[in-house]
Amino acid sequence: MTVYRAMKTKIYPNKQQKILLTKAIGVARLTKNVCLDKLKKDYKNNIKHNYFSINKWWNSIKKIEYPFVNEVSKFIQEYAIRDLDKLVKKVYDGKNDFPDFVKKGENDSFKITGSAFFFIGKIINLPKGLSIKMGRSLRWEPLRIFNVTISKKGGEWFAAIQMLIKQKSINTAMGAVGIDLGVSTLATLSTGEKFYNPKAEKIYRKKIAYLSRSLSRKKKYSRNWYKAKRKLAKTYMRLTNVRKDAINKMTANISSKYEIIALERLHIKEMLKNNKLAKYISDASLYEVRKQLEYKAKKVKYVNRYYPSSQICSICNRRNEEVKSLSVREWTCPKCGTKHDRDVNAARNILVAAGHKVKPVDYL
Ligand SMILES: [Zn+2]
Repeated sequence: MTVYRAMKTKIYPNKQQKILLTKAIGVARLTKNVCLDKLKKDYKNNIKHNYFSINKWWNSIKKIEYPFVNEVSKFIQEYAIRDLDKLVKKVYDGKNDFPDFVKKGENDSFKITGSAFFFIGKIINLPKGLSIKMGRSLRWEPLRIFNVTISKKGGEWFAAIQMLIKQKSINTAMGAVGIDLGVSTLATLSTGEKFYNPKAEKIYRKKIAYLSRSLSRKKKYSRNWYKAKRKLAKTYMRLTNVRKDAINKMTANISSKYEIIALERLHIKEMLKNNKLAKYISDASLYEVRKQLEYKAKKVKYVNRYYPSSQICSICNRRNEEVKSLSVREWTCPKCGTKHDRDVNAARNILVAAGHKVKPVDYL
């Protein structure tokens, strides 16, 4: 089932962007007012318009009378006319009077259609290369985005986004689970369940290593160099897709079973500074897991990374520094004698740190 949703968030344009946005608001207002004037006059002479005829008229006069409007995306002008057309239809049907002319400072905004902008994380990318930081990323994963309204009120800027989303099926998920996100293992749950990396990944990684070596031996900018570069890029893309698919299935599975999901907080900023590509790819997957769970699961709780979740016994709290080395996959607590799987124990500690009790499980 699909449902309509709207969200509004603050946006933070810089000085230059504020100038451009203000211009866009001005052009939207001008488009509306000039077209409204034309529609009113024509109506008196028994001439009615539709969206296409008034749009055509506007395009024919704007170049001569208002050449500066070209600095602003045509999508903004089109949407202004579309909005006006809706109101004028009601006038033609005898339901309403013509709307008033738009005054400056009164509903300072413009709207554009969903195909004219896109999001990358917390950035909204508007036409004419305007990339603006938003206060928060999209609250849902939309199937379709209809439009965005950019507005200004009291010196602050906002984006209101209208979209179509898939509604979650009736949630039968229950209980809480802790997840330890890993590199070799995609994720380990506090229940002992493990999700592994897709098998194909190993093959692609090997291929990438081979292709990178081969690329470095080629003469830069030669035909063969370009060929090798394309091949390498293609393999990267395949690797990313294989991982994305695995993450999709995994997060759907976990969120269908558990109501509350506890995760370690990832330091995205630090992560993105990482230059090593292999590390970068796994970091990117962790980011993807988090993002997917946030819109699929009922509730996601974050736990800070300040304590060594893998070194503490989840049963008696005794810290065992021998576990520090990543090569230790299994260990036995010197105090209570519990046999631990490194990742399951870490996942259980994450769950505890999120304020939940762990049930004893026999996973070994
Ligand atoms: Zn113990």
